[in-house]
Amino acid sequence: MVFRSVQLLLPVLLGLCAALLPELVAQSQPMVHQGVLLLPWFLLPISWVVSRLYRQPKVSFLILISLLVYSLLQSQRLHPELATHTEASFWLLCLLGPVLILVFSWLPEEMTGEANNWKCYLIIATIGIVALNLLQQFPQQTVYWMQLLLALEPGLPPLVPLLLLTLYLLITGLSLIRRHETSDGVAFMALLSMGFGFCGFHTEYGPEVSFSLFAMMVVVLQVLHSYRLAFFDPLTGLRNRRSLVSTLLDYPKGYHLAMVDIDHFKDFNDTFGHDVGDEVLRAVASVLERVGVGGKVFRLGGEEFVVVFVSRDRSACTGALQTVREMVAHYPFKVRQPLNAASERAATPSQPQRITVTIGLTQHSPRDSSVDAVLARADKALYRGKSRGRNCLMLDDGKPVPWVTIGGEKRLV
Ligand code: GH3
Ligand code: MG
Ligand code: MG
Repeated sequence: MVFRSVQLLLPVLLGLCAALLPELVAQSQPMVHQGVLLLPWFLLPISWVVSRLYRQPKVSFLILISLLVYSLLQSQRLHPELATHTEASFWLLCLLGPVLILVFSWLPEEMTGEANNWKCYLIIATIGIVALNLLQQFPQQTVYWMQLLLALEPGLPPLVPLLLLTLYLLITGLSLIRRHETSDGVAFMALLSMGFGFCGFHTEYGPEVSFSLFAMMVVVLQVLHSYRLAFFDPLTGLRNRRSLVSTLLDYPKGYHLAMVDIDHFKDFNDTFGHDVGDEVLRAVASVLERVGVGGKVFRLGGEEFVVVFVSRDRSACTGALQTVREMVAHYPFKVRQPLNAASERAATPSQPQRITVTIGLTQHSPRDSSVDAVLARADKALYRGKSRGRNCLMLDDGKPVPWVTIGGEKRLV
């Protein structure tokens, strides 16, 4: 949740800062000017190295394209005498840079992976060489076609490139909202910084500021990504075992801990396949997350989860756990696709499958030497529940927690 919010917040921050900072930089000390001019040349390569270290090839290509676009943009801004047809090469850059970003953000991960790296470098190099050759060998024709294609009229704003950039921003923005991939966030910010860079071509420090901000935000995204990898389970999105251990150290005054295990999950996997098993894990995780009394849910591993309550009110905790246990048992889980002939015989696709969980609950005591001691006690209670027939909540004193129906409403005894 935090990751998603930050991922959406960073482009907004980039937009605001890229709009406001160039003016402030221009009014500041000459030393600051020098620093800002150098900044993108440090930050862009650093963010590229970080993306390589975190093994995010797609992100590294997006940064590489941004670095190339920035280099070409700066060579035209700072040394216009070297470019034969500055205006044509500028518009060519405005066209090709964002298209490359869009294409790479949509390439499947395998295409940008180690084995296919060379193909991506080849695509970028080919497009660059073709564009340069066009400019060198057919300068008049390139200018003519660029003006025709982009409907460029002297004195009028370049509508077509602006519309195209807005369209690309919309496409990557939508996939950022839908998929929440780090590469979507990076692609969106790359397009945004290019937009500010192109629009600020004639302004002082416009491109320097927008590309530096882009590189900084990418590093922030990468750090967040690694945090997510370290403390969250990628399948269910729940916190993982490492996160559980550090969370429990924050509760020295005690807590209740419940171990939750899906019943007969191996049979479910064997019948419907591993992918359907994964869907069950996600479904159970989403139900468990609705546990009351402030319970925090973790995936311990496999089909085992842990719920931690800071509350020391045992009956409140058992009530919350019984409620989610019932919710899981009544979850209308539908198997969409039987994977093989055997499973086809075993289930009708539309028929809801019953999933149940067994829970063991214990309380941390000052005598517990480690987190493992608490987990072992909850595990023991859980396995008593398994041998008692499953789909129940057992306490560490060996007692089950039954439901009774009072006036049509389920209550704890
Ligand atoms: P019990 O009611 O006694 O808990 O029986 P069970 O079948 O649930 O327990 P068992 O320990 O025999 O099997 C656990 C299974 O969980 C075996 C393993 O294939 C499966 N599993 C573990 N991790 C994953 C996962 O990430 N995805 C899927 N689909 N299956 C997993
Ligand atoms: Mg199990
Ligand atoms: Mg188990």
